[in-house]
Amino acid sequence: MQSNLAATVTANLEAVKGMMAKAAKAADRAPEDITLVAVSKTHGADAILPALAAGQRVFGENRVQEATAKWPALKSQYPNVELHLIGPLQTNKVKDALGVFDVIESVDREKLARSLAAEMAKTGQHLPCYIQVNTGAEPQKAGVLPEDTDAFIRLCRDDLKLNIVGLMCIPPVDEAPAPHFALLRKIATRNGLANLSMGMSGDFADAISLGATHVRVGTAIFGSRM
Ligand SMILES: *Cc1c(COP(=O)(O)O)cnc(C)c1O
Repeated sequence: MQSNLAATVTANLEAVKGMMAKAAKAADRAPEDITLVAVSKTHGADAILPALAAGQRVFGENRVQEATAKWPALKSQYPNVELHLIGPLQTNKVKDALGVFDVIESVDREKLARSLAAEMAKTGQHLPCYIQVNTGAEPQKAGVLPEDTDAFIRLCRDDLKLNIVGLMCIPPVDEAPAPHFALLRKIATRNGLANLSMGMSGDFADAISLGATHVRVGTAIFGSRM
């Protein structure tokens, strides 16, 4: 069983990297300019270790508690892992999040931005952060509304001195993702932000053609989540 899972994850990872390279080439982009964030949420060490053994070093998790339980042991084996938080962060978990994550992709409101800035001032950390934009203006979804994003970027960067490196979005499930990717790129460009975290298992090739620098891929690598 175990070796079966390892073989599957290793093959899936190779396949995803191949598709990423193909999409990059089609868009006249250098494959090395696009980082694969392997989304390992809900999956255990038995699935993650084969990806690490194959050289994958950038991972995404959406829950602080799960990451805290899984990753310290894995990171002690692979110290150069870069772990991205891609899910909502409650302010009472900021301290724990800064203990395990290396990049925060889900800065989505002023209260969280202030809490991150205050805690990082205490610890001397300066983690790269992304602002999550709710490109579809979905009421149930986290993220800053597109029309509020410029002002929010200024607050985070200029007033709070957060290390804002880019934008992240999760398009509505029932819409074509391309217009959302294009909107995210437009907002990033006019604010001088270099990184675009967009694209998941079903649409990462589209995202790459529209300028993604980071794609967050879970299912296509690790299989479906229970
Ligand atoms: C789970 C998740 C992903 C990965 O989705 P897949 O469809 O499994 O590739 C990407 N981004 C976020 C924010 C997620 O929560």
